[in-house]
Amino acid sequence: MAATTNNVTTNGFTSAPAESVKVESADVSANELQDGLSCHELFANSDGLTYNDFLILPGYIDFAAEEVDLSSPLTKSITLRAPLVSSPMDTVTESDMAIAMALCGGIGIIHHNCTPEYQANEVHKVKKYKHGFIRDPSVMSPENTVGDVLEARRKNGFTGYPITADGKLGGRLLGIVTSRDIDFRENQPEIKLGTIMTTELITAPNGITLPMANAILEKSKKGKLPIVNENGELVALIARTDLKKARSYPNASKDSNKQLLVGAAIGTRPEDKERLKLLVENGVDVIVLDSSQGNSIYQIEMIKFIKNTYTGLQVIGGNVVTRAQAKNLIDAGVDGLRVGMGSGSICITQEVMACGCPQATAVYQVSSYAKQFGVPVIADGGIQSIGHIVKALSLGASAVMMGSLLAGTSEAPGEYFFSDGVRLKKYRGMGSLEAMERRDAKGAAMSRYYHTEMDRTKVAQGVSGSIVDKGSVLRYLPYLECGLQHSCQDIGARTVSELRAMIYNGKLRFMKRTHSAQVEGNVHGLFSYEKRLF
Ligand code: IMP
Repeated sequence: MAATTNNVTTNGFTSAPAESVKVESADVSANELQDGLSCHELFANSDGLTYNDFLILPGYIDFAAEEVDLSSPLTKSITLRAPLVSSPMDTVTESDMAIAMALCGGIGIIHHNCTPEYQANEVHKVKKYKHGFIRDPSVMSPENTVGDVLEARRKNGFTGYPITADGKLGGRLLGIVTSRDIDFRENQPEIKLGTIMTTELITAPNGITLPMANAILEKSKKGKLPIVNENGELVALIARTDLKKARSYPNASKDSNKQLLVGAAIGTRPEDKERLKLLVENGVDVIVLDSSQGNSIYQIEMIKFIKNTYTGLQVIGGNVVTRAQAKNLIDAGVDGLRVGMGSGSICITQEVMACGCPQATAVYQVSSYAKQFGVPVIADGGIQSIGHIVKALSLGASAVMMGSLLAGTSEAPGEYFFSDGVRLKKYRGMGSLEAMERRDAKGAAMSRYYHTEMDRTKVAQGVSGSIVDKGSVLRYLPYLECGLQHSCQDIGARTVSELRAMIYNGKLRFMKRTHSAQVEGNVHGLFSYEKRLF
């Protein structure tokens, strides 16, 4: 017979002795309640950690998620309402993406895998953007045909095209072709638009406000409203469908002239100074020095040049992953640091160069150093989810830079294509051979991954692939932001700045994840499931 003990066994579970000493909960010391590790302890043994290697322990909630303030600095003097930055990659950020990022409180950095003129024009489009106005509408000439419209409809998804004398924006407006003009003419693709276009036009003068334009559209019952200058030349277009979709963006990132904020990337070659000049002339707000290994004499000299030549222009240096690298760029005068080497989804740098650093460690070590000098850190690469964004901020980053998360959206450059019935867009590393050898209408390849004309043998540091259609980034970013607010609420941080403060006062508690903990934390044990995120 089993010996009698104080413990009671029911169904194999053992409960504590009934007479154990009771302690009042209020008497428990704060130290006893410190589960997990502080951020410092998490990285104490110098293991290289990634975002998936740890979790943040939940805190106390005494506020609603929508109260969480996501404002955070991008550089010493630019603060964003949402800590989100789109990467300067030619399959991620041109003007459409940069406009959407800024409307939602973040910022886009226009890539430089193009001519200086092309890049400067993309900056120009963002700075001149006016909500609701299409500043670069697709335009046709009277010589174009019904077949051209049908082809354009297949590609763009819409049928309304203004007709100008030269078929270009800025040309004299002659008419407009809409679906009503080409319906029932599908079998006559050769008909010239000049013979069927609508010429009785309702237009609005340049400078009209959106509410006024809205009123005209409502009254006229037309689908499109061309905006013309005093010479009758087309300068913009307003579409009824856009107006219906138009919502306000109270958190938009704007400068003191109420224009959207935009950044642009450049290299560190002498000719980049000419590119920089054009960008500045077009109103760029922040320059990102684009290098996979930013701790170089070239970058230090470029930082000094920019700070001496363009007072007030913000400069983000990088990329760096160590304190020593960061020190050199901070000493040279950077206003922000871009952190990451080898963590990008399309990146093979760590494999090919044997150089790099697991991203969570890199973000923590550079942020904790840069903080002393008031230099914000952008965690760049490897962001796959809202959770990764929160983790980057919880390690000290002020903002995150994303490539793959934003690629595949309608605002990312490039055409959709189908593969096995799936709608895809191209996404490629800027160090992929394909990107480095780019020679198309947008211009010659850039120099992020090679330094001199002598570098004729290119060594790829990235791959080229594709991403599934994600729809518009204007729907995706609000999802990211709402998720961030909920996560901060779970952690018990009312603001992103408070979250950062909690790192250094030890209030933010972390736990390392074993391999099985990672398996447990993902969907498991289901035969099949659908993962819809928003
Ligand atoms: P993602 O968000 O994980 O897709 O990573 C995007 C980041 O990867 C960019 O912001 C760059 O820092 C980095 N990156 C871009 N192109 C390359 C490449 O070809 N090789 C390595 N890293 C790259």
